Amino acid sequence: MLGEAFRLDHEKKLLKHYYAGQQMESPNGGFLICLGIRQGETGDAIAIFECNASWIRYEVTIRKATRTERKNVRDALSAGEDPFCPRHGLSARLLRAGKSLVCNDCGIAYGKV
Ligand SMILES: [Zn+2]
Repeated sequence: MLGEAFRLDHEKKLLKHYYAGQQMESPNGGFLICLGIRQGETGDAIAIFECNASWIRYEVTIRKATRTERKNVRDALSAGEDPFCPRHGLSARLLRAGKSLVCNDCGIAYGKV
């Protein structure tokens, strides 16, 4: 659908910037723009980034929710709060998708309702 995509060397660092809403430098000059998120099979998600200088596309795996992240979301729910994405923070509220609570910006389910 999106054609061939490449992998990046520093995925962790890139995702840190992505979660923080900061600009992400492309290895080819320019910046990486997030084109979309695809659900993976095992709870992971794949983010598609495109370099705005070279138009090269990169796939970055976003790891599924950790036990701690799921617990924090569960705690917020039982405290009667609307949970935010544990990675994106206050910029991303978790949304209901079926029985899951999902962050649209990382495509990860962090809890159940
Ligand atoms: Zn998120």
